[in-house]
Amino acid sequence: MGIILATLGYPVTLIEKNRQVGGMMRSYTRDGIDCDIGIHYLGALAKGQVLRRCFDFMGVTDDIPLERMGTGGIIDRYVIRHPENGPDVFDLPEGFGAYAENLKIAFPGEAGAIDAFMTLLRRSASQLHDLTFLYDDLSTDILIDQAEPLKDVFDRLGCSRGLRAIIGVPAYWIGVPADRCPLFYHNMTLASYLFSAWRLAGSGTQMTGVFASRFQSLGGKIITGRKADHIQVKGGQVSAVRLDDGKTIPAGQIISTVHPKMLIRMLDDRTVKPSYRRRIQHLKDTPGFFCVQARVDAGRHGEIPHNLFHLDMKPGRAGINSIFIQLRRTGQPQWNRLTLIGNGRSRLWAPWSDTTSGRRGDQYLETKQREADKMIARISGALGPFKSLKLLDTYTPLTIRDWVNSPGGSAYGAMKSSDQLLSTALLNRTAINGLYLAGQSVLAPGAMGTILGSFVTAKFILGPKRFKQRVAL
Ligand SMILES: Cc1cc2nc3c(=O)[nH]c(=O)nc-3n(C[C@H](O)[C@H](O)[C@H](O)COP(=O)(O)OP(=O)(O)OC[C@H]3O[C@@H](n4cnc5c(N)ncnc54)[C@H](O)[C@@H]3O)c2cc1C
Repeated sequence: MGIILATLGYPVTLIEKNRQVGGMMRSYTRDGIDCDIGIHYLGALAKGQVLRRCFDFMGVTDDIPLERMGTGGIIDRYVIRHPENGPDVFDLPEGFGAYAENLKIAFPGEAGAIDAFMTLLRRSASQLHDLTFLYDDLSTDILIDQAEPLKDVFDRLGCSRGLRAIIGVPAYWIGVPADRCPLFYHNMTLASYLFSAWRLAGSGTQMTGVFASRFQSLGGKIITGRKADHIQVKGGQVSAVRLDDGKTIPAGQIISTVHPKMLIRMLDDRTVKPSYRRRIQHLKDTPGFFCVQARVDAGRHGEIPHNLFHLDMKPGRAGINSIFIQLRRTGQPQWNRLTLIGNGRSRLWAPWSDTTSGRRGDQYLETKQREADKMIARISGALGPFKSLKLLDTYTPLTIRDWVNSPGGSAYGAMKSSDQLLSTALLNRTAINGLYLAGQSVLAPGAMGTILGSFVTAKFILGPKRFKQRVAL
């Protein structure tokens, strides 16, 4: 958001509560090994594709080293426990044609439903590619059509349970149960990776460092280690941000990229209507994750060039119990990094909900260790047994909550499910003059969703006409 506004000539100051900028997009280091938090792969970064056009506009493309995934034919491999009328392994390749082909091999009796779904997917993909939601006034028909829950689409097309489960996986990448995921959000996520999928050749911190340097080279100012805790409003217009050290920064325009529930706490009661406050406070959020970072012997456990998803589709279970797995090289030739991301199971961590990071006590540490052991054991059947595995770190939803101020440790912010589509729509602006929102809750999560959401906010700040003239993505 800062880079976009600074590029457009605004003098911008960024306030970050942590010592380093980057939020969940950055990485941290354990035993000299970079551990990524929130960027494990990125979609649509080939020349001319949508995220690449955003990076080009931001002037960061050349400085972020990337590796293309899928050159061996696989971006994601789903390993499925309890598959229903389908395979126990499914590979998601690059390209729409290859994806349809793999679906038809996996579900040979459902070619008609697959073709019908691909037509919808291709249409969403072309809307994403053309950025119609950013540049065009979409007709209500298209909006209603695209908001249809995935479940209704599957019902209409007569898809089997097995086919739904496979096609529906990307809904979980954005934290929405597949049955309640609006078609466009699902398709936008899936399409972005089918266009092309990439990994950072360096670390998340290297990428966010590039963002920060670019922002500063455009005149942006960064204040770190200070929390914004109050937004001053005079006569319905924002006037300043107060930091936790009492200092105020005058500003005629303020863009909050924190979770909307956190923003609402920074506003005095009388500044927003009670109905708006209630709407934000009652938003349902996407769940959090439990994550394990470990070091393994690189000679024995080589880098895997694609992502692995272990999906347990036991009938009767609410949702899919999934573990996302990456095995990647590190800067140290003898060690590779094993990353496991699984269900956050918020209730398990509830006894520590009143504690803060680093001060939760031994029982919490023991519980984290036990959960990590269980997760490693679950994937050992496929990848292990692991030689010289050393646990580097684990984090829970509480870690994320305290670290980036995300309510309940939500990984992807407000849930864009079909049952709260209206209350999550148009979160970019408020009734207070000069106060806008950006960040993952406003449009969609992930690097692409967050950045595109920032462009939408820029459109509100500039007005659609000036936006069209000045921002040609
Ligand atoms: C485990 C995990 C895996 C993921 N994997 C991927 C992936 O592979 N690809 C992908 O594209 N996306 C992925 N994501 C999602 C992606 O990381 C997020 O969508 C993205 O980081 C959201 O950016 P944001 O700026 O909205 O929020 P954040 O990254 O949370 O940034 C918000 C920032 O605001 C700061 N802040 C909060 N409150 C205040 C305050 N009061 N004052 C000052 N500063 C404040 C925080 O410290 C933080 O730096 C993943 C997320 C998780 C949790």
